[in-house]
Amino acid sequence: MSLTAARLSAASSRRVRHALTECLLREAAIEDSPKYPDGIAPVLPGPWRLLLEDCCTWRTRPRLSSQLLGDLRGHFGNNVIREILLAAAGVKLSRTCLSDPKLDVLRGVAGQHGFGVKASSERYIHHRDSGKGGSSNAIERLASPDEEAGLRNVYIAADSNLATTGAMLEEAGDDENFGLLLGIPACCREAYMQRSPKAAAAQNDFVLFALDNTSGPMPYDFWLNYPATYFGPALISFFPCSFRCTHAAAVARSTFEMLYACDETWAESFLKSHQTNILYTEYDGLHLFRHPLVEGCIGYGPDDHRSTEPSRVSDLISRGTRLEVQGKHKVLIYRGCEQIASIDGANVGMCAFH
Ligand SMILES: [Zn+2]
Repeated sequence: MSLTAARLSAASSRRVRHALTECLLREAAIEDSPKYPDGIAPVLPGPWRLLLEDCCTWRTRPRLSSQLLGDLRGHFGNNVIREILLAAAGVKLSRTCLSDPKLDVLRGVAGQHGFGVKASSERYIHHRDSGKGGSSNAIERLASPDEEAGLRNVYIAADSNLATTGAMLEEAGDDENFGLLLGIPACCREAYMQRSPKAAAAQNDFVLFALDNTSGPMPYDFWLNYPATYFGPALISFFPCSFRCTHAAAVARSTFEMLYACDETWAESFLKSHQTNILYTEYDGLHLFRHPLVEGCIGYGPDDHRSTEPSRVSDLISRGTRLEVQGKHKVLIYRGCEQIASIDGANVGMCAFH
């Protein structure tokens, strides 16, 4: 997200999408006219097709490059590698934040493999979220020239024009078209835009909103375990509108299949990360439990749970042996038969996926 740009109105985003689409179709028609003697409509290349049909590129499932995966390993984390592979294969535009040394590595790899990278001219200092292990969903301010912690917004795509367009859309505050090219389903884009003012008032996180928008009993659809991102590999890069969103689940499944075709063992580590239960708190950390939810309870030993950071809640969990899930916003911690704590309130969210 740009530091200063106000969000473009829905009407302006529609005009931008229309203008971009018209321009691309005209170019495609001129270039490809000999191939379309019967007047069949030309097809836009790669993720540009997302301008015509929401999420269509997820169905194409191109082969991800094993060689590119090998060149990225050791330099970037699993989730950034996932985003680079999908972008380089033409599934979507990807966006991440990188330091200048990492950006140099990425530009070197992009030159070898022939995909596009565009970086913001400014570097940003990110807000350090409370309790979330150094994760951050918000930019705090511009970095001064001598601040090493500054990160650039980096846009990656098979086509360098698309990477540049992504940068322009985000900098212009066009969240709708930016989200569209990132391959985010329309329902999830809409939920993001509706809820972002409230999310920004806390730590810019949407987990509680997705949870409140999820109907039916736990466990939820494990393909949509977005909170797993706080602990390791995850299959989606965006906040789903609910933990039962079928469109976002299709994106996660498609991502898994592409990763699996590239490296089976690596892909399975993503799936394992999704098959967990996560107790979310806004300010007292996120807490992952590996064992499944059985009859409303999750049993655990010392090695069966992890927390993003030490906190009041992680201390209580460490003293217990069983979590009793009483609802989306209330869990009890037991040690044997004795209840030792109740964790509840609007800032608590039990996200059971397993
Ligand atoms: Zn959705």
